[in-house]
Amino acid sequence: MEHVTDNIDVLVIGGGTAGTIAAVQASRLGERTALVESGSQLGGVTTTGGVSFPGLFHAWGQQIVAGIGWELVTNAVALDSGQLPDFSVQPPRHWWHQIRINGPVYAALAEEACLQSGVQLHFYEIPTEVSETEKGWKVETVGKSMRRTIMTKQLIDCTGGANIVGVIGLPRLREEETQPGTLIFKLGGYDIESLDDEIIQAHFLAAIEDSRLQHGDVSNPRGRFIHFLRNGGENAQHVFEADASTSDRHTKTNIAGRQSLLRILRFVRSLPGCENACVLKAQPETAVRETYRIVGEVQITHRDYTSGRIFDDAISYSFYPIDLHDHDGVKPKPLSEGIIATVPLRALIPKESRNLLVAGRSVSSDRLANSALRVQASCMAMGQAAGAAAALSARLETTPGQVSVTALHELLIQHGAIVPSLDMKKFRDKAIKKK
Ligand SMILES: Cc1cc2nc3c(=O)[nH]c(=O)nc-3n(C[C@H](O)[C@H](O)[C@H](O)COP(=O)(O)OP(=O)(O)OC[C@H]3O[C@@H](n4cnc5c(N)ncnc54)[C@H](O)[C@@H]3O)c2cc1C
Repeated sequence: MEHVTDNIDVLVIGGGTAGTIAAVQASRLGERTALVESGSQLGGVTTTGGVSFPGLFHAWGQQIVAGIGWELVTNAVALDSGQLPDFSVQPPRHWWHQIRINGPVYAALAEEACLQSGVQLHFYEIPTEVSETEKGWKVETVGKSMRRTIMTKQLIDCTGGANIVGVIGLPRLREEETQPGTLIFKLGGYDIESLDDEIIQAHFLAAIEDSRLQHGDVSNPRGRFIHFLRNGGENAQHVFEADASTSDRHTKTNIAGRQSLLRILRFVRSLPGCENACVLKAQPETAVRETYRIVGEVQITHRDYTSGRIFDDAISYSFYPIDLHDHDGVKPKPLSEGIIATVPLRALIPKESRNLLVAGRSVSSDRLANSALRVQASCMAMGQAAGAAAALSARLETTPGQVSVTALHELLIQHGAIVPSLDMKKFRDKAIKKK
């Protein structure tokens, strides 16, 4: 077994939506940075999970999230001859402002950005032990035929489930009943215009009745199956009790997602006109909407989120409806006109910890606030703020809770990010006027 020892300033665990951005930011600030990822590529839910439609970077006609995430997303759009939506007006459906990207292109660009900024990438590794030292952390990882000991000043947990916070033994929150997950796939091989809506619907109801299809195979069971077919079933399936909080639970969730795909494929191929239906794409894992959230120095509540509370230490904006999925699908609750939520630095700091940050969907928040904060633009913005806070802390030999928010804002602005305006009223008035 090979054994490697590294000495660095900032270690990011989890190279997903938030972690990639955190690592690039810390490294661009000149700190020795490494990124440990248990999978084979960067991007997490954005790429491996197939949710390749990040949002929301704009609110009420203005951009509210930019920086490294925006740079990668727009580069991915350009390299794939894609198109950005018109952001100048607030659309009636929030998802019209989500940006369609090519997942594999995004993963490759994210990797390139890491390499160009000097991030040391370690795929197929997972931390087994994490202990506090006088100057930061000692992290032991295990990979394929190798072990690594990493001495780091600052640690950022971007595992999407606060896995490292769990290894350290700090408290985390988790719901007994989780939101459903989704295996992202796309079906094809049929001509939608030639299908008979009524006949298809009758077959669909019969298949539900005799259990060829199960509840969740179609996330909106009261909708018409022709709509499911029109989009090839993409992001229109639910896996109930989806959970990625342990390897066992994630294994079960992945198996349930693929079994559902097989039921759907067999059923679709039984429909008149769909005999040659096929799977055009299917992701290697079921994407999960929630696992653990941290208990931070501050918890963002539903009220904070929907009132657009401006925290004293706000480091990024977040804009998305409250979006809790359940057994009957989802009914998003949009924010009131002019409202934009903010994320405080203290919500990224596990309570009573030192030299530790968390970014991404496990941000300290109650369940309803989290159903909105978890989206990708918000996670990317948190990732960039965490990367900058960790780099600043490493440089000044302090802990993220002690860094000056003004200094942090300055660094973030220098690196293209948008930070919450202290004069939010002016910002809101401008946004509403523009609308
Ligand atoms: C079905 C579905 C639909 C969604 N729809 C949208 C949408 O339309 N628009 C939108 O913006 N957002 C959407 N979201 C939300 C959003 O995609 C996620 O909440 C967000 O991407 C989470 O980012 P993250 O960085 O916190 O976690 P992730 O992207 O999950 O990244 C975590 C990374 O950490 C790695 N990891 C985990 N544990 C370890 C470990 N112990 N050691 C090393 N590495 C580890 C994982 O492999 C992964 O790469 C959706 C989510 C789901 C599931």
